[in-house]
Amino acid sequence: MREIVTAQSALRENSVLFKSCIRCSGDRQIRRDFEGFYISCLACGHISYPEVHTEEVARLLEWKTAS
Ligand SMILES: [Zn+2]
Repeated sequence: MREIVTAQSALRENSVLFKSCIRCSGDRQIRRDFEGFYISCLACGHISYPEVHTEEVARLLEWKTAS
């Protein structure tokens, strides 16, 4: 359940993607935790994970493959 987020503005935490939920067409909000970004639907709670390529994620992947 991955999707590509290309717009820079879409990667801002707490920004809302209106009517973008694939399950209920509700509004979704960008959230992030220690593992990275995810998008959760405000209406039905559906979670999806965007493909993000930030330096932070790259470092995390490096660390994972090195250990
Ligand atoms: Zn939804």
